[in-house]
Amino acid sequence: MSSAKILRTPADLTAASLSPPERRAALEQVAARYAVAVTPDLAALIDTADPDDPIARQFIPDLRELDAHPSESPDPIGDHRHEPVEGLVHRYPDRVLLKPVHVCAVYCRFCFRRAMVGPGGVKALSPDALAAALDYIRERPAIWEVILTGGDPLVLAPRRLGALVRDLAAIPHVRVIRVHTRVPVADPDRIGPALVRALKAPGKATYVALHANHPRELTERARAACARLIDAGIPMLSQSVLLRGVNDDPETLGRLMRAFVETRIKPYYLHHGDLAPGTAHLRTTIAEGQTLMRALRGRLSGLCQPAYVLDVPGGHGKALLGPCAVVEASAEVEIEDYQGRRHRYPPP
Ligand code: SF4
Repeated sequence: MSSAKILRTPADLTAASLSPPERRAALEQVAARYAVAVTPDLAALIDTADPDDPIARQFIPDLRELDAHPSESPDPIGDHRHEPVEGLVHRYPDRVLLKPVHVCAVYCRFCFRRAMVGPGGVKALSPDALAAALDYIRERPAIWEVILTGGDPLVLAPRRLGALVRDLAAIPHVRVIRVHTRVPVADPDRIGPALVRALKAPGKATYVALHANHPRELTERARAACARLIDAGIPMLSQSVLLRGVNDDPETLGRLMRAFVETRIKPYYLHHGDLAPGTAHLRTTIAEGQTLMRALRGRLSGLCQPAYVLDVPGGHGKALLGPCAVVEASAEVEIEDYQGRRHRYPPP
């Protein structure tokens, strides 16, 4: 990363001309509740002349974040319901989420774990909690894949990350380790040789899923960081969140998906915005998302098509929202989860 510092307070944002001085007091209220961090790489992408800049919308706090809607929840995808030991979510039979850290390189204003992540609380799992999570995985031969998430696991020092990957790789039934991260776009220089080595384990497959939402995030530096992972034999997938005013038009979403494919990243998930507190201004409707997916289907190569999914509120797992040839779109819909149970969306 350049010598510029990470912006962590409304005062930092004002000093960097990313937010006007008259908004500072309001932003202090937001920052008191939800973590703020903007790395130099992402700050440099913000067009300060554009009041609707799509990068700023993702990272600069907004007073509307204090307006929580009754259907929103601090745990919108129901992690806690499926957390048998601290830091581990076991929602589906063959895979678990493991959350070794609760901090990130940047804090997204729409984060579905915004109530849990940030430097204010516990930063990382204790050694005892991590050992208990590893024991849980060891004792369950059905667990084929471990997904490292958080927080952002790639903020860990390579030495600690390498130790964790080695511990997981030593479990015979764990065949796949998947890492979800924003670091290649937020802080590309972190993806150095030691970190790349730390992610690899002989005989096991490591995948890295990159979270990015706007084509401008795929800078030359970000693409080079991804190339360092991919050239080392680590396949990459994408995950994006559909966000109002960021990527909710076919042209931008199409450019984002093409940017992934050009970077050798297979588009994987386009998430419908989760019902995280104070994020209504960034969410689209499902009907809008389905219309966008139909537009992508008509315009872009099959390589560029992500799966548009909703994490069904309450911890019921992911439901595919489209594209679908038979669509009945309205403000209120029923979603069927993978076990065939039906849920009203938004919840009553
Ligand atoms: S990087 Fe991920 S976990 Fe961290 S704030 Fe953004 S969405 Fe949330």
